[in-house]
Amino acid sequence: MSPAVRCTFTIGKLRVVTYFPDLSRYTYLPEDDGALNIGWLDDARSFPLGPPDLVFLEKLAWMCARGQRVNQTRGIHPCNLCQPIPSVWHHLETSEGTRLLGTAEIRVEAEQRYAAPDLIIHYVSDHRYQPPHEFVRAVTACNERLSMGEWQIVRRGL
Ligand SMILES: [Zn+2]
Repeated sequence: MSPAVRCTFTIGKLRVVTYFPDLSRYTYLPEDDGALNIGWLDDARSFPLGPPDLVFLEKLAWMCARGQRVNQTRGIHPCNLCQPIPSVWHHLETSEGTRLLGTAEIRVEAEQRYAAPDLIIHYVSDHRYQPPHEFVRAVTACNERLSMGEWQIVRRGL
């Protein structure tokens, strides 16, 4: 397995697709911290599917809304699984505000450190992405969670 970056262009817009295999070494930004990649999906690559565990989903929502968010960027990485609408952005809404997804990463600390795009909450809840078991275990071990009534993912076009 080797990490790969694939770039494509759509009419009038730059569309950059970043893909790294699950559990490969994180190298996306120079501040490599020895983390393992999780959830860097691409529509050209298959990924495991399954219904999300409710506790896992609620704890992952907390991490994407209030957890260890890092590498906030000015650019936006859209979900390229939501074809054919490239200019739709996903927001994570909670009672405390709205986060634009696709602009940052999260870190999950366990025996191993994991690096995931913040879009992972959308991938799991809307595309049925099933991350590796060790990542699910690490997230589920977190003490914090947002119940399903406390958050939602909203799609908006630009
Ligand atoms: Zn999507």
